This record gives sequence, C-alpha cells and structure tokens, in this order.
Amino acid sequence: MTEQQTEQQATSEQQPVVLKFGGTSVKDAEAMRRVVEIVERKRGNHPVVVTSACAGVTDMLLSTARCGGTGDLNGALQNVRHLRQRHLEILGDLGLPLERSCQEELTELLHEIEQLARGVVLLGELTPRTLDAFASFGERLSSLLLGDAFRAAGWDVAVADSRQFIITDSNFVNASPLMPEIDAHVAEHLIPLVQRHEVVVAQGFIGRTLNGITTTIGRGGSDHTGALVGAALHATEIQIWTDVSGILTADPRAVPQAAVVPHVTFTEARELAWFGAKVIHPDTIVPAVERAIPVVIKNSMRPDDAGTRILPDGSPISCGIHSITSKRGMISVMLGPRDPRATSLGFQKALGIFAAHNLPIQCAAVAEARAIITVESAGFNDVILAGLEADYAVELMPEMAVIGLIGAGLRSQPGIISTPLSALGAIPISFVVAGSSDHIILLGVAEQHATEALQRTHSALFE
Ligand code: ASP
Ligand code: MG
Repeated sequence: MTEQQTEQQATSEQQPVVLKFGGTSVKDAEAMRRVVEIVERKRGNHPVVVTSACAGVTDMLLSTARCGGTGDLNGALQNVRHLRQRHLEILGDLGLPLERSCQEELTELLHEIEQLARGVVLLGELTPRTLDAFASFGERLSSLLLGDAFRAAGWDVAVADSRQFIITDSNFVNASPLMPEIDAHVAEHLIPLVQRHEVVVAQGFIGRTLNGITTTIGRGGSDHTGALVGAALHATEIQIWTDVSGILTADPRAVPQAAVVPHVTFTEARELAWFGAKVIHPDTIVPAVERAIPVVIKNSMRPDDAGTRILPDGSPISCGIHSITSKRGMISVMLGPRDPRATSLGFQKALGIFAAHNLPIQCAAVAEARAIITVESAGFNDVILAGLEADYAVELMPEMAVIGLIGAGLRSQPGIISTPLSALGAIPISFVVAGSSDHIILLGVAEQHATEALQRTHSALFE
C-alpha cells in the first residue's frame, strides 16, 4: 500500500466531526463563506455541518403562520416576499452559476411557504403541527444555500434532509427526539452520505414523527440536533459555533477582563447554566455527554480562539474555581422557631411548603434552629409567606444575589474558599453554601453589592 493509500484509508475510517452553526453564523453569503473556511480545517475528517436558519428567519416564518391564522393574507404574503428576497439575495451573492446552484429547489420551497400561508388563511385555523410545517422551512432554505457555498468553494457536498433521521414523538413545536430510532436512521440515511461526500450539510431543529410528519424540537433546538447527530455518528467531537468564544470566567458586561475557560465538565456546565451563564443550554448536549463525546464551543467570528471544551464528568481536569456567576432577583427567607427556646427547627416542613408551590430552592444553609433559604423573588408570594409563618418566625431579605464560584474538585481543595471570601472585604456576606457539591460554592450578598462582589472575587482569583 502506498503512503497515500494508507492515509486515505486512515481518514475514511476516521469518525466524523460535527460542526453546528447558529443563525448569525449563516446570516448572509459572507457569513456562509466564513463557515466554509472554518470547515476547511476539518477537510478529510468527514465534517458534518448542522445549520440553523438564517438569523431572524424562524421568527419571520412563525409570524407568517400567525398572520395566516388570523386571516391576514396580505401580512402573510408580505412576509413571504421578504423571505423570498432575503434568500434569493444570498443565492445571488454566493455567485454560483444558476444552473449549478440550488435555485430551483429554493424557489420551490419559497413557493410552498406561500401555498401553506394561503392554505392556513382558507382554513382559518393554525395548529401546532402547521406551525412546525412553517418553522421547518428556515433550516431547509439555509441548508440549501450553505450547500451552494461549499459547492462554490469546490467541495463535493451533499445536503441531507434531517427529517430522514431525526425521528421524534408527535409533540409538535417541542417534539422529543427518539434516540434508538435516530441511531437506526442515521446509520441508514446519513452515514452513506458521510462516506461518499467530502462534507454533509444537515438542518438543525427539524425532525419527523414515525409517521413522517414534520416536527421541530423547540426554539434554539439546533444545538440539540448537533448533539443528536454527533452522538448517533459517534463523532470525535461536536463543535458548536456561535458568536462568543466560549464559556467565560464571568459575565464580560460586569467584568471586562473576563477570559475564556478552556475546559469544564458537563456538571460544571450545568451549574453554570442554572446560575446564570447563557452560552449553551446543557440539557441540549446530553446525548453527546451520554456517549462521552466532547462538545466544544467556538466563535465563528474568531475561529482561532481555542473556545471551551465541555468534557464528560470524570475527565481529568484542573481542580479549582474556573468561573464566577451572579444571579440576581433572589429573596432569602430566614426561618427560626416560633418558640425561642426550641432547639430544633423542623426544617422539612418549610421544604414542603416551597415544593407545594413548585418554587425551586436555589440554596439553603441550616444550622441548629435557624435556616436561610434562597429562592427567586419572582416565585415568592404572600401565600408561601403565610404558610411559613404558621410554623416559623420568618424574616425576609429581599433584593439578594447569589454569587456562584464554579469549578471542579472544590471539596478536596483545602483553603479554596479563603481567597474569594477575603476578596469581598467589607461587603457583608449573608450566607455561604459550600461542600454540598464538588462543583460549586455559593455566597449570598445584597443585590446592590453583586457587581462589586463579582469584580473583587474575579480579580483575586483570575487577574
Ligand atoms: N432556527 C431555530 C430557532 O431560531 C433553531 C435554532 O436556531 O437553533 O429557534
Ligand atoms: Mg435561531
């Protein structure tokens, strides 16, 4: 075997890599060309590209549907004209000779949207199933155009129809993917394309029921598609390309010096999302996590930035605090016994009251006959208060913030808490919750001190 043949065999046996691009990364021809350049780095590694609709298009499709549903044919047709103009403009800007382009299919899809809008006006009824039919066009259009962008750059590209392998239940608008079905259909419909072409482009967000009806898996669902496809393909990694360079050490609006965190574990990513970071919704990547496939967050405007790798739990990762979040809009409820001589609180009763009102407890600290429980103010009300007052002496601390110090191996790091605590200086600390998780330490401060607390702890830990 020649060296070249060995290399070819090596690459053809390689597992694919999945790259997901959000709406702003494919918003026009220039952005699509950037996507092609980014994927160029993975040429030979069987790249599978999962794309969102062009920025704003899903919203416009849904508004078209709603116009139709209220009988506003003119409004709906005006939207369709915008959609047509927008996509034909990208087609023109991509500059492929029309006979080699997706023009025909694109025009056909745009025509179908118009037909659908007229149909809804006639019926005077808009069902969730019809909403999904509308919404699905965004990704179907953008994927055709992205296919052309690859073709224009000389790639051998296939545009797959994700509805052939993203099989879901029939909970329209928010359908749940069925993983065993997806595994089987990816093997049948996607893997052959991956083997035969240099790159495959597929749509995020859309799927179909077992009976073949188009569904969508919830707004912003393309990340989830990326994880599903990556999991079913046993990809080497899943790259989520977005407009930030990854998970940051703190919110850059409060802390301009915030830097990218190179590695986090999945549980850390979960804590981060729960305590306020908005880069990725961790539930969306569960299919990847379950198969131990790393998920990397990358910035399509700054492709050389390393990004953040979200690694399976248990991966070797440096111990310590990796990032700091602050969550405002909290209220802390201090509970004591009604009888001041009591030595125990009967804390579980309080838990029951919050649970009965479906109000999640953000954090709690309990000592002897006193407890401080923190919840989101928006969910707290007089009924809960009255319930608590029946059994406890209650004192409320409104306008609180919870500072989350998030990392790995925090329980086994002696002295880890001393740096942030002393950094707070004169800022009063209402509570500390440590040791309940290896990944998070929480500090309660008044909302008015939250930004300063974030800046001081960040500076002490990272600057
Ligand atoms: N296009 C869909 C939406 O805007 C899905 C996505 O972008 O992830 O919600
Ligand atoms: Mg979107």
